[in-house]
Amino acid sequence: MKFADAHSHINPIKGMGYKISEKFKSNGGWFISYVSASPWDYFDDFNGFESYRKMIEYQIKECKKSNEIGIKTVCIAGFHPEDIDFLIDKIKMSPSSVLNLGLKVIEYESNLCKDGILYGIGEVGRQHYKTMPERVAISQIILEKAFEYAKDYDCMIHMHLENADIDTVKIIDYNVNKANINNKRKIVFHHAKPSMLIEINNLGYSSTVYGIDEVLNFVLYSLPPIFMIESDFPDNPAYKKVVYPWELPTKIVEISKKFNLSEEYLYKVNIDNIKQSYGIEP
Ligand SMILES: [Zn+2]
Ligand SMILES: [Zn+2]
Repeated sequence: MKFADAHSHINPIKGMGYKISEKFKSNGGWFISYVSASPWDYFDDFNGFESYRKMIEYQIKECKKSNEIGIKTVCIAGFHPEDIDFLIDKIKMSPSSVLNLGLKVIEYESNLCKDGILYGIGEVGRQHYKTMPERVAISQIILEKAFEYAKDYDCMIHMHLENADIDTVKIIDYNVNKANINNKRKIVFHHAKPSMLIEINNLGYSSTVYGIDEVLNFVLYSLPPIFMIESDFPDNPAYKKVVYPWELPTKIVEISKKFNLSEEYLYKVNIDNIKQSYGIEP
């Protein structure tokens, strides 16, 4: 069996970079999706758009290296909803200038996607915690703009959202329909709560679930294979509690033995669903 990590992060400056893929490969991994971090995770000083541009440049290089060592790799870059709070609180930018920066960043990313250099835009979405309303409004404008680009250039979207169960899914569905996106499988609910998964699948979207024991024990036991699994590995030593991508295969095998899961089930989660969302096969 081959294993996929459908949402991870990569940081060649503070973390391991493409060496994650080497370890993942030797433990049975075949596919990984590397999503951008925030520029301050990479660099000590912040220079607005230029910092995002430079971070994405590093990220793309690492994705190439990962591909070269034989892990099928896609690169996705976004404007994380938490960046909005960081830029206002820590960098002291005004909300409207954060909006302009965010729009500039995702325009840049969508052009890279159009050229086939990035696979999609993410993370974009909404804060999962309470914050000021104008900041959620900024998140929403950026998300809707990302949907427009996704429609125009056939880009994938990785969404980081609040957790209002199936209401979150239904609200997003309204936006996606408004943007006229036909291929909803390329719209991914990342870190999806298990209680959302059936609605996400029924409406034609994709999801990734967090690969911790608590979540895997629940979804692998009680749900059909309608999701992908993610490590959401931050690749930053500053984060303490993490799941490593290369731990996923062992975890999944152990749990599947416990529940007597079929080979077909695991194949669906790790290969078919990747093919369905990303259009990539081993
Ligand atoms: Zn996230
Ligand atoms: Zn993430």
